[in-house]
Amino acid sequence: MNRITITDLRILVEEYVSDETSRLGFAGWWQTPLLASAPIDQRFDILPQIASGDHIHPHDLLQTAKSVVVFFIPFKRELVKENKEGDRPCRNWGVSYVHTNDLISRLSLAIESFLSEAGFKSELTPATHNFDEDKLMARWSHKHLAYLSNLGRFGTHHMLITPAGCAGRLGSLVTEADLGNNPVIDTDEACLLKAEKKCGKCITACPVDALNESSFERRWCWNRLHENRDVLDSFTDLPKTTHVCGKCAALMPCSFMNPVAKL
Ligand code: SF4
Ligand code: SF4
Repeated sequence: MNRITITDLRILVEEYVSDETSRLGFAGWWQTPLLASAPIDQRFDILPQIASGDHIHPHDLLQTAKSVVVFFIPFKRELVKENKEGDRPCRNWGVSYVHTNDLISRLSLAIESFLSEAGFKSELTPATHNFDEDKLMARWSHKHLAYLSNLGRFGTHHMLITPAGCAGRLGSLVTEADLGNNPVIDTDEACLLKAEKKCGKCITACPVDALNESSFERRWCWNRLHENRDVLDSFTDLPKTTHVCGKCAALMPCSFMNPVAKL
């Protein structure tokens, strides 16, 4: 077995996302990704308490796994700015969602293949739609895995705020490679409101009032994501699973950075 370091994986994901531009034939939607890892220790035992009650443990995916690997692919500012307009998502927000799901799947396979060549088995999960539609909770939540691996902190909008912000998408996997503890966030909170500063901009941006300071009407949000797919003429050629909104991540203080780190 060859030794694999976190730097090897960070270079791999950065180059993969950068090369996507030539694969797509246009400039793409993404900025430089972030990647963190964590040893599979007792921190992951609390997943059923903080996420879905039936959330699986990393060892349920791969008994011999030693590390959780999580990554965040931030969207470009122009795309997020375009999605700020109005109460419904712009077409490019939907198109970029489809492209990003595909990117995350292929990137995860590329990481798996890289690790496999070095002699380490890995196990992947889908980028999205791996959850219970009654409870609206994932049995494998990239967001909660990323939180426990210190890729970011939760915002009032219930998304993860990383050092590159919250406007982007997450992926994760488990691997036999022992990568160690490689956090990327260095503040206890990354949401201004949670850090007891003035904000709440995501609350007022939500078109269906699904957010408030202490709770989240998950069903109202979910219904809105479905409704957007059904009512938008510009979405008719996109897959039926294009469930997007993103208004609470559009040009917020936490969209592109951790605002608490700047205080
Ligand atoms: S917009 Fe403000 S309150 Fe909402 S998550 Fe971001 S920093 Fe927190
Ligand atoms: S994604 Fe849209 S509907 Fe859901 S909480 Fe954010 S702004 Fe509200």
